[in-house]
Amino acid sequence: VQAVFRSNLSYLLELIGSGKESLIFMKKRVRHLASQWLLATRSLAQKLKGRRRDQKQILIHIGFLTEESGDVFSPRVLKGGPLGEMVQWADILAALFILGHSLKVTVSLKELQSNLGVPPGRGNCPLTVPLPFDLIYTDYHGLQQMKQHMGLSFKKYRCRVRVIDTFGTEPAYNLEEYATLHGYRTNWGYWNLNPKQFMTMFPHTPDNSFMGFVSEELNETERQFIKSNKASNMAVVYGKEASIWKVSGKEKFLAILNKYMEIHGTVYYETQRPPEVPAFVKNHGLLPQHEFQQLLRKAKLFIGFGFPYEGPAPLEAIANGCVFLQSRFNPPHSSLNHEFFRGKPTSREVSSQHPYAEDFIGKPYVWTVDYNNSEEFEAAVKTIMRTKVDPYVPYEYTCEGMLERIHAYIQHQVCDSKPNGHAMPSSPSPFTLSPNATHLVWLYNASSAPHVWPPVSSMQVWVSEAGRACTQTCQEHGLVCEPTFFEFLNKKDVFLQLRIACDSMESEMSHLYPALAENVQECYLQKEPLLYSCAGYSTKYRRLCPCRDYQKGQVALCRDCL
Ligand code: UDP
Repeated sequence: VQAVFRSNLSYLLELIGSGKESLIFMKKRVRHLASQWLLATRSLAQKLKGRRRDQKQILIHIGFLTEESGDVFSPRVLKGGPLGEMVQWADILAALFILGHSLKVTVSLKELQSNLGVPPGRGNCPLTVPLPFDLIYTDYHGLQQMKQHMGLSFKKYRCRVRVIDTFGTEPAYNLEEYATLHGYRTNWGYWNLNPKQFMTMFPHTPDNSFMGFVSEELNETERQFIKSNKASNMAVVYGKEASIWKVSGKEKFLAILNKYMEIHGTVYYETQRPPEVPAFVKNHGLLPQHEFQQLLRKAKLFIGFGFPYEGPAPLEAIANGCVFLQSRFNPPHSSLNHEFFRGKPTSREVSSQHPYAEDFIGKPYVWTVDYNNSEEFEAAVKTIMRTKVDPYVPYEYTCEGMLERIHAYIQHQVCDSKPNGHAMPSSPSPFTLSPNATHLVWLYNASSAPHVWPPVSSMQVWVSEAGRACTQTCQEHGLVCEPTFFEFLNKKDVFLQLRIACDSMESEMSHLYPALAENVQECYLQKEPLLYSCAGYSTKYRRLCPCRDYQKGQVALCRDCL
């Protein structure tokens, strides 16, 4: 069946259901963004020019909202608790629905079981029941519930699962045998999935798929309104829960900011001002999402205190014409040194409160400074007050960008639990050395190229410096690491073509391979495809990196990817 774009969202609102504050929040968001989604749909439909799209049967099981997993978030929706996940799920639901797929939404174990066709009372069903869904979007909580209640079907159908995973899961933490052996500990379980099945909130490691969410775009009237109503001396603080304001050194930098600007907050309180919020701050209390964005339209500066990490709010601030000021983390925060990240399945080093804002947006919209350095902080505030910026949303965070990306994943992404099975010419090698002998490029023409997505024509093979990850190496060349391509360069020939002298060549399990240890001239191939990793690095190795091009503003897609 062909998927047909939908323009009426009222049935989706029914599907979401009601009863919980979290669901009410999500419905409000869908309703509020409806007209933007529709404009984006029209524009994407034009871009795809009637191309065939298959309709999928999709189950969306939001595990963290089930009572069985504790549902700690719903009761905090109106009290300043985290909303980022709900923002993202609302947008995922909207996008899948608009793309024309057939959806079922579940937020309890009972509904999950009945949709999976598990007979009632058969908690741990040993049979494989035919699965009536092509795809299941869930989270780590939901994954656990599905494993418990699907019996053998879980293993059989694992490739149909997509895990919404805010901070990402690196391959070294995903493969149970390897993680246990090498101390890659996580509290979230070892699922041995294809790492691309994990979908993140921001483009972290390209080992995972970037799912994202949307940030509202302004129309011309709103832009004009912003231009004439910006108060260049108005700052809003990022943080709706009082605990966020318990940050050391706050008095010093807030005093500096207070010299230049009127400081506003949206901190939840019950009866009186939370003691963490200084008296000179104008606190509005927690605002409904829409009113919060109205406040941002008047403000010049949105300032982060270091927590929460990587939420939607800074993108909304920039979309409403603010500059985002945040603190640099030196040393970076990670699962090795920070409580928040401990037990999360990633070693990623977080260099500021919002690395996406820092690296993908940057100045003049984003200033990342050392808050302990008063001069640097003060200079930034002064410059920001003088700088004019227009509202800005990176394309990948617009409705159209998100629709386009999810469309591409659904139509093209394949989950191979055992890759390395592509027919491709083994000799002669499919690569050729670039004229300046720095990297390999794909040589074969389209007709003989293996059928993979992204297409191999977008590939370049680079060798990293010792101690560098492929993520970083590709980035240095204006490219992005593409783990799907590892299988094409995990070959002896490729080392030869890159003129690497290998005294020995072993095939082993390591998230750093293929790689070479330069001083001893030892070369290594990867034995376990699930361990192919863009994120891995070690001072011992120079890594062979599969890079690809990408569309400006849509890093998930290569130039010929649609
Ligand atoms: N938000 C809100 N009211 C407020 C402040 C923020 O509704 O007073 C919303 C904001 O629009 C954003 C969401 O809260 O979409 C989550 O933002 P944040 O970056 O704080 O992430 P979180 O830590 O909540 O996941």
